[in-house]
Amino acid sequence: MTHRIINFSAGPAVLPLEILEEAQRELVDYQGAGLSVMEMSHRSPQYDAIHANAMASVRALMGIPDNYAVLFLQGGASLQFSMVPMNLMFPARKADYITTGAWSKKALQEACREGAARTAGSSEATGFDRIPAATELDLDGEADFLHFTSNNTIFGTQWQAEPDAGKVPIIADMSSDILSRPINVSRYGVIYAGAQKNLGPAGVTLVILRKDLLERVPASLPTMLSYRTHADKNSMYNTPPCWAIYMVGLACQWLERQGGLATMAKRNAQKAAKLYQVFDSGEFYRGTAQPASRSQMNVTFRLPSEELEARFLEATKEAGMTNLKGHRSVGGIRASIYNAMPPENVDTLVELMREFERVNG
Ligand code: PMP
Repeated sequence: MTHRIINFSAGPAVLPLEILEEAQRELVDYQGAGLSVMEMSHRSPQYDAIHANAMASVRALMGIPDNYAVLFLQGGASLQFSMVPMNLMFPARKADYITTGAWSKKALQEACREGAARTAGSSEATGFDRIPAATELDLDGEADFLHFTSNNTIFGTQWQAEPDAGKVPIIADMSSDILSRPINVSRYGVIYAGAQKNLGPAGVTLVILRKDLLERVPASLPTMLSYRTHADKNSMYNTPPCWAIYMVGLACQWLERQGGLATMAKRNAQKAAKLYQVFDSGEFYRGTAQPASRSQMNVTFRLPSEELEARFLEATKEAGMTNLKGHRSVGGIRASIYNAMPPENVDTLVELMREFERVNG
């Protein structure tokens, strides 16, 4: 029997076993074509169908309106930190950024190379333990856009709803909570996400962009860095990451079979609540995020000492679990429980936490 470890990695993260097996079945002979998706011309009819199917599935799952382009790009979410301001920080050449963690700070840093990007709200003063309240935001009504990070992978915080910037388009880095719950896409100017947490394997970045914003894109941009190039060519200007896009298609079909995003949202809320309940019912584990800002994707916590944390990690390893160590910049423990993490595996972790507390608390 295949040995599968319980993988709490923050990304690349666990994928549904079903789609790994599906890919395995089709690996050397894709649906009778006699070759693998990895060996196929990206201009072949077989790949065309895979590409179109992945795009249509993302559109259907998220309810993306027709006035939005869906792009499959490369370079990770990190390249979007640059592409967003290079393409869209016009005409005012100024943008607002809400900094709620290391990734949003990096996004701001890149935007500062392109124009007058500024911090319009931050939770850095309290160690990024929360999402700022609407009343704390200092928004510029003339900014070209407002950027925020919907889920902070390292700090375990998540926006419960997107900020309201009036007529200023909002741009969200959804790398770590895309497809985890229904959202109203029409409230956004741009949504982007690296695939390797909730969407599929590393190698493809999803960008959802309101088409009227393409008018801002300067003609002087390098071809590959222009959203217009990829929108005009349906993400086929050059060779796309075919295999990763194929896997995104399989992941989306799996999500559809589960009942779509409303079902996932419910399941994700239940999984996270089980872990948070362990913190809230005792003194041993201390959640690092303020309760109102808690993430349903990355659950971060501390134990009474670093020595106990090391022993806890050892215990999880012995019980067949991996990747529970917090990000190297913050330490502690982090359980990433994206869509593909089965609820029963969260139960296994909860049981271990209770037992570890009973013995060491
Ligand atoms: N944004 C967020 C919220 C992330 O969690 C990450 C990666 N962990 C990134 C951006 C960077 O993504 P990539 O490695 O795809 O560039």
